[in-house]
Parts: sequence; C-alpha cells; structure tokens
Amino acid sequence: MSSESETPSIFTRIIAREIPATIVAETDRVIAFEDIAPKAPVHVLVVPKTEQYRDVAELAAGDPALLAEIVAMAQSLATELADGDFRLIFNSGENAGQTVFHVHAHVLAGGLEEASLA
Ligand code: 5GP
Repeated sequence: MSSESETPSIFTRIIAREIPATIVAETDRVIAFEDIAPKAPVHVLVVPKTEQYRDVAELAAGDPALLAEIVAMAQSLATELADGDFRLIFNSGENAGQTVFHVHAHVLAGGLEEASLA
C-alpha cells in the first residue's frame, strides 16, 4: 500500500458513499462513476475497489484479471453511453498528470474529436 493510501483515497470514499458521485456501473471488484471535470461528452472513471495499486503497471503485475475487468467495463460503458468507441487513459505518475494514486482508467467516448487528453 502506498503512503498516500494511509488515509482512504478520494475514490475509496466515493466507493464507501462518503462522497457523492454519479455511479454508472458496479461489480464486486470494480466501480465506474462520472468524472467531476469531464473532458468529453462521456468521461467515466473505472476504478478497482481496492486501493492497493497506485498505477496501471502495479495493477497489471499484481492482478491482471482485475485490469481485464476494467477494460471490459470500459467497453460495456462505451456501448451503453455512446457508440461503442472509446479512448482508455491511465495517467501513471505525477509527470503524466496523475493526481489520484489509486489506479483508475479514464474512459472517454462520444464526440472525441473535441476531447483533449485527460
Ligand atoms: P488523474 O489526474 O489522477 O489521472 O485523474 C483523477 C481524476 O479524478 C480527474 O479527472 C478528476 O477530475 C477526478 N476527480 C477528482 N476528484 C473527484 C471527485 O471528488 N469526484 C469525481 N467524480 N471525480 C474526481
């Protein structure tokens, strides 16, 4: 567990319903909710419920099946909320723009011609 995780991450607090969010999908291990500052018509964060992985490399090494579940949820949400096409972004590290060190996928869909990279 990372040092940032000594207190619950903002996403763990959303999962616990301590902070409101618009939740669009949930399984035993993964949750998806709308980003608070959307960069595209559909901008959803897909997040494992465990905060033990800081970034996608740690997740891929530690639990590749959980990473596959995130990708499958992204595909399903893009089909449900847009035309099925989507961009999947994992910011990894501060210099890549990561601000929350609880691994999460940005799913961008719908009108991506206008969307900047998250
Ligand atoms: P990162 O910069 O770490 O890749 O992405 C973090 C994302 O979390 C940002 O796009 C930011 O808008 C989103 N975010 C930060 N705080 C909250 C929050 O309290 N609620 C929701 N729904 N999204 C948040």
